[in-house]
Amino acid sequence: MEEETETVCRICGFDGQVVWEGGWPTECLCPCCGNESDIGDSSVTGVRIYRGYWVANGAPWHDGLEERRQRADGWDLLQQMTNIPPQWR
Ligand SMILES: [Zn+2]
Repeated sequence: MEEETETVCRICGFDGQVVWEGGWPTECLCPCCGNESDIGDSSVTGVRIYRGYWVANGAPWHDGLEERRQRADGWDLLQQMTNIPPQWR
């Protein structure tokens, strides 16, 4: 488990970049929810709190030109959230 490379955001389930590697956070920003691996997602409690606020605010995509381009038409948050590993739900 600790040695796994994670490419799925623990907060929102966005898949596409390495967020945790070998048990360490890569400190990259999720283009979807804007979470930086390390700060908010090192505990399941933190993950749930961040996700709760993010969804309650309308689940806005991280504000940035490059990130916006990654948002696909017909994006389905609930579908994406099924990517979240069970231990982070
Ligand atoms: Zn995310």
